[in-house]
Amino acid sequence: MDKISFKEFTKLMADNAYKSDTPSTGSFELTPLCNLDCKMCYVHLQDPSVKERMLRKEQLIPLIQGAIDDGMMVALLTGGEAMTHPDFWDIYMYLIEHGVSVQVKTNGILLNEENIRKFTEYPPFRIDISLYGCDSESYVAVTGVDAFETVTKNIRAAIDMGLNIRLMITPSSFLSPWIEQTMTLARSFDVSVNVNSTLLEPNPDTGRHKSEFDLSNIEVDKIMEMKKEIFFPDYSQEDKEIYGHSDRPDVSEKGLYCNAGRTGFALNWDGTLAPCLAFPRTVISVNTLEKGFHLAWLELNRAIRNFEIPEKCHSCEYNTRCHYCPVSHSRTADRHLCDESVCAYTIERIEMANNDNNTENKGE
Ligand code: SF4
Ligand code: SF4
Repeated sequence: MDKISFKEFTKLMADNAYKSDTPSTGSFELTPLCNLDCKMCYVHLQDPSVKERMLRKEQLIPLIQGAIDDGMMVALLTGGEAMTHPDFWDIYMYLIEHGVSVQVKTNGILLNEENIRKFTEYPPFRIDISLYGCDSESYVAVTGVDAFETVTKNIRAAIDMGLNIRLMITPSSFLSPWIEQTMTLARSFDVSVNVNSTLLEPNPDTGRHKSEFDLSNIEVDKIMEMKKEIFFPDYSQEDKEIYGHSDRPDVSEKGLYCNAGRTGFALNWDGTLAPCLAFPRTVISVNTLEKGFHLAWLELNRAIRNFEIPEKCHSCEYNTRCHYCPVSHSRTADRHLCDESVCAYTIERIEMANNDNNTENKGE
């Protein structure tokens, strides 16, 4: 029998899923509630009625089974704080027992001894833990709670128990004074680290606005430089992949460029199916409680395949380097228009990358 590497296998699987519009990867936003209150969170709600309205296992498990029947092989459990969902372990075990590869995203507070033991017994593919600061002061500034000691103790214990851990850092104006120390602390755990380079516009119900915590291109660039220095050489390549490639296809007539709604979906806490976690509901969303998973997926997939890219992108000189995303353009995507400020930001990033490349080439 011919053998292929795991990387080749996952690529083959992703390609085949795309060709056949199979929902192979699902994100489950179990709850918008959280035991922290991060000031830049695009999900967290405080409304007490959410507790009554969020799906419980009796509703979620048939939807999960529907997704498995349609081909789901990978699932992400997220929130809010996924581990605060009262049925978290039942849902997790259902996925594991049905052979789904599970990834859990958490802020680490509930990753206590008992929960680490459960994860060790039935391991997930990976646990992504958000690191929101480098000490008590930064944690309070970013999350409103002094959870530093608890989180770092839990991260260490989870790593020591052999769990596959990745640390996630989200730079914002709240974390800015401590960003270098936070990356240095993350590096000291000697596990994989992801540093986000973009912030999302919070959902309208949160009452937050990206402008309250956004970073300028110059600030983002500085952070990305720091990232290269701290984690060198792992990340220099990643930056080039985002802004340095020019071999992607030109603008598409219809449909997005990513896997959202083609091989991936996000099931929100109230049963709304969306193409990806942050996708604006006003643009494309389907109610799974009325339709069940299979019909909801077909409708979602059809809507994504027919999604009209804004006219402006068709003649934009940057359209091989920038691919329209309704999440980034959330304020205008329902009208199939570009958000001019997002275009200006993107073009500035591309030009900065061009200048960097020119300088590098001259230095060679
Ligand atoms: S910069 Fe704006 S107009 Fe140009 S491709 Fe990107 S989203 Fe479209
Ligand atoms: S955020 Fe945009 S690019 Fe990413 S999966 Fe969602 S729609 Fe696609």
